[in-house]
Amino acid sequence: KNVDKDTKHKTEDSSLRLDEMSDIERKRHMIKETKRSLPIYPFKKDLINAIREHQVLIIEGETGSGKTTQIPQYLHEAGFNKDGKKVGCTQPRRVAAMSVAARVAEEMGWKLGNQVGYSIRFEDCTSERTIIKYMTDGMLLREFLGEPDLASYSVLIVDEAHERTLHTDILFGLVKDIARFRPDLKLLISSATLDAQKFSEFFDDAPIFRIPGRRFPVDIYYTKATYIWFMLQAPEADYLDAAVVSVLQIHVTQPPGDILVFLTGQEEIETANEMLLERTRKLGGKIKELIILPIYSTLPSDMQAKIFEPTPPGARKASNTLSRVLQVVLATNIAETSLTIDGIVYVIDPGFSKQKSYNARTGMESLVVTPISKASANQRAGRAGRVSAGKCFRLYTAWAYKNELEDNTVPEIQRTNLGNVVLLLKSLGINDLLNFDFMDPPPHETLVLALEQLYALGALNHMGELTKLGRRMAEFPCEPMMSKMILASEKYKCSQEIITIAAMLSVNNAIFYRPKDKLVHADTARQNFFCPSGDHLTLLNVYNHWAETDFSTQWCYENFVQHRSMKRARDVRDQLEGLLERVEIPLTSNEGDTISIRKAITAGYFYHTARLSKSGQYKTVKHQQTVLIHPNSSLFEQHPRWLVYYELVFTTKEFMRQTIEIENQWLLEVAPHYYRAKELEDGSGKKLPKAVGKSKDDLVRKY
Ligand code: ADP
Ligand code: MG
Repeated sequence: KNVDKDTKHKTEDSSLRLDEMSDIERKRHMIKETKRSLPIYPFKKDLINAIREHQVLIIEGETGSGKTTQIPQYLHEAGFNKDGKKVGCTQPRRVAAMSVAARVAEEMGWKLGNQVGYSIRFEDCTSERTIIKYMTDGMLLREFLGEPDLASYSVLIVDEAHERTLHTDILFGLVKDIARFRPDLKLLISSATLDAQKFSEFFDDAPIFRIPGRRFPVDIYYTKATYIWFMLQAPEADYLDAAVVSVLQIHVTQPPGDILVFLTGQEEIETANEMLLERTRKLGGKIKELIILPIYSTLPSDMQAKIFEPTPPGARKASNTLSRVLQVVLATNIAETSLTIDGIVYVIDPGFSKQKSYNARTGMESLVVTPISKASANQRAGRAGRVSAGKCFRLYTAWAYKNELEDNTVPEIQRTNLGNVVLLLKSLGINDLLNFDFMDPPPHETLVLALEQLYALGALNHMGELTKLGRRMAEFPCEPMMSKMILASEKYKCSQEIITIAAMLSVNNAIFYRPKDKLVHADTARQNFFCPSGDHLTLLNVYNHWAETDFSTQWCYENFVQHRSMKRARDVRDQLEGLLERVEIPLTSNEGDTISIRKAITAGYFYHTARLSKSGQYKTVKHQQTVLIHPNSSLFEQHPRWLVYYELVFTTKEFMRQTIEIENQWLLEVAPHYYRAKELEDGSGKKLPKAVGKSKDDLVRKY
């Protein structure tokens, strides 16, 4: 309808009429053609019939067959939105939720955010009228808090189920449960060609609907030089270099076709991007132009959209001839199954991805670059065979593939901290977590540790029941430690500062940028914001300065601060402000008193405490793990005795990212039931008062 209006409007402007109209028509026509060409299209009727017939259906189809974009539209056409009920579709990744919703809006001729919208953490692009809703799996989980039977939905699609994210796994148990007492609800579990049998078994032998894929053969090439694989523990640069060399080799020696390179994260992608630019520059006119497109989850959406733009028109005319401009997509795992990029002929797979890893003994969670699984490797290779026969270059040996890669990726639930979901499940009244219907249960110790941590934070009482504090914490879509920090700001009268810090932490790796040709300037600019008491206060400082300039873009530019990240931080902050109101915490500021701000932070993050040991190294207080201050930190050269960190990142060593200096007595003040005075003595001669409080042993014994 919107389109009709547009067209009418434009007919009045006679000079534009013909071109404009045919443009819109041409676009409509192209969309229609594309939709018809998708592998799922011939199965539309059968699929709708199967959905009518069965309450739960497992849908399996090759990536790119049209599951995510088409099924909700088919359901809409078939009348599943009657009475304004929604079709909901979950995605493990925020980027996918946004881009797919945008695509569907375009296909339907709707405005994004009206009938079709998306909801991701800290960003709700839906309205009262939304009937097709894409969202992250985590957001649907949170919807259970407000609407335990999800009555406003007629169909739920748990998409990309094979990714087995923590939130998707928890959703499995919850939606299976509500389907039992809501016979009118349709449940679709959709996945790439993996694990369908397992999903079927979990959902009481639900039938599997298979969409036959159209796949062209992909030739697989392995590296012969084994050294790359064996040097994997050491410098990342090795496989980056190999990947860059491979891109150039393909470019020079192979018939034209777009190239997709799998890398592990933003930093690596940026480095590879620069390496490629530098080397093509050196080769000068000797090789044809390369268009490099980065894609990772924190990439701003307008940049992501570029991925879906067809190769530049001039180049397209000449497609399949040697003069064609080449695209190189540098992507994280996101391009493995959640986003389909058309036109890829070559895949370069270094064999790694960044994965969360969790040590349930120490409670330490870290992002680690890890070898992928065989299943992942095969998905990656498959990306090369969508439009024609393709080639996949694996930067590891055939032997390594066969002997060193696991068959399947370990589901996230078995390698992550469960604090967040335990808090959520408790808020939903699910108390018996050991008997929750898990597809693959988490390790017992991980569950116990999550309970312990929530107890230490005060979210659970010694019976393992949710406390008032815990209930308030669950209002925030944040990790328990961050929620606790925010709630503690009430006591320390610094809620203004704390929500700014929380917002900045949630975009934290993307605040400053360092262009290669202005490293010194950029570093000086960054250091100008440094606060002696730590990085959280540095972040606060940056935000406040920016706010003083009335959120100026120019200011960001001059200070080497990423304007987009700052805008996002401002959005997050606005949302947190709204949530503070919900839990009735007034906005208060204590201008300049960093002690109370740091105490509030410590009240949330006291688990993350490290102390300088006699040997001059930092050790975590509870488990004596060696950790280092990140070189970017304002505390890097200061060596305070005690500090609290925000997170650990493992690269070559275990680094603490975002640290503040604290005093050991504060730990007794904010977590008396967790720390004993004795373990906090630091040889400075000062005696600490004795802690009072219950031991956590009661809790552990109970489970
Ligand atoms: P599946 O979920 O089965 O992997 P999708 O529904 O995501 O398949 O994709 C179907 C087709 O739609 C693909 O060819 C893909 O390239 C195209 N597509 C998906 N998202 C977008 C987008 N944002 N812009 C343009 N094309 C898109
Ligand atoms: Mg999909």
